[in-house]
Amino acid sequence: SDDLPTSSAQGVDTVENLVIIGSGPAGYTAAIYAARANLKPVVFEGYQIGGVPGGQLMTTTEVENFSGFPDGITGPDLMDRMRRQAERWGAELFQEDVEFIDVKSKPFIVQSSERKVKCHSIIVATGATAKRLRLPREDEFWSRGISACAICDGASPLFKGQVLAVVGGGDTATEEALYLTKYARHVHLLVRKDQLRASKAMQDRVYNNPNITVHFNTETVDVVSNTKGQMSGILVRKLDTGEKSVLEAKGLFYGIGHSPNSQLLEGQVELDSTGYVLVKEGSAKTSIEGVFAAGDVQDHEWRQAITAAGSGCIAALSVERYLASNN
Ligand code: FAD
Repeated sequence: SDDLPTSSAQGVDTVENLVIIGSGPAGYTAAIYAARANLKPVVFEGYQIGGVPGGQLMTTTEVENFSGFPDGITGPDLMDRMRRQAERWGAELFQEDVEFIDVKSKPFIVQSSERKVKCHSIIVATGATAKRLRLPREDEFWSRGISACAICDGASPLFKGQVLAVVGGGDTATEEALYLTKYARHVHLLVRKDQLRASKAMQDRVYNNPNITVHFNTETVDVVSNTKGQMSGILVRKLDTGEKSVLEAKGLFYGIGHSPNSQLLEGQVELDSTGYVLVKEGSAKTSIEGVFAAGDVQDHEWRQAITAAGSGCIAALSVERYLASNN
């Protein structure tokens, strides 16, 4: 709306060098580089994931593969360190979701519910979100039996000591199933295909765990409840025989992949058929000059914290070059 203050802090009609959208490893790393380059980046951190900034790693416990932390580090601790590093170098952080951008003319406009910022360049680092199955009773049981994050919810009293199920056959699903065995009485892994897609190492860990039963050719149809209205089981269908049955379980965890958070960019920059931002190979450049993308929102292949951070660095350095050649 037009009555929002323009610009970031002072409410004056300035044009910022750079707005970064997102606060995962990509957004914060871009912010660190851009702030150190004296670009005074404005960062919209968002709060879509659990109502806090920091992105997907806020939903995990130990991160064991981010280099520089030989003893591991928790996801929230790692993200807090990145945030503080960005702040220390002068990035201006707003815990607001961006609701609208206009990159059709310059300066670009980035708008949240609180403010409207004009800027010369944008880095989109909005990440990705776990996919849902869209079961008929999904909304009814969301957070009351159905979850998309074993690590966030596995230890909750709702699930502790219960029989649980995970749907999916890739790395996410196998990781969730293994994680849940710490708390659950037993874990069923529901796999549509006749094999797992997960890495060999993950497959071995699943097959060697007596607390996990893998069900192949199994479609998850819906959840069922008891007379008290609590989730009590999962309606499944065998794809090879068509036979339907109810599997007793108090929880169902989704491990079926992610969708890029790119709704904001529809009609503004080019996306691929699955919604990922298209970047020119080996760069952070989108279809619009001055708009760059980093992290999971443009990466359906690697999706790691370290690769997201690396692409955030590339995006910030690209912005630096872009601004230098356009001023
Ligand atoms: P994200 O971390 O997804 O962050 C995106 C940010 O953008 C969020 O803060 C979000 O709120 C914000 N945002 C979105 N839309 C808007 C908007 N409109 N306005 C403002 N802000 C917005 N990777 C590893 O390397 N090691 C691991 O051990 C590991 N464990 C994981 C465990 C779990 C449970 C999950 C889910 C992921 C794990 N990953 C791990 C993957 C890793 O978390 C991601 O690859 C990484 O976080 C991607 O970073 P990103 O910066 O692209 O986006």
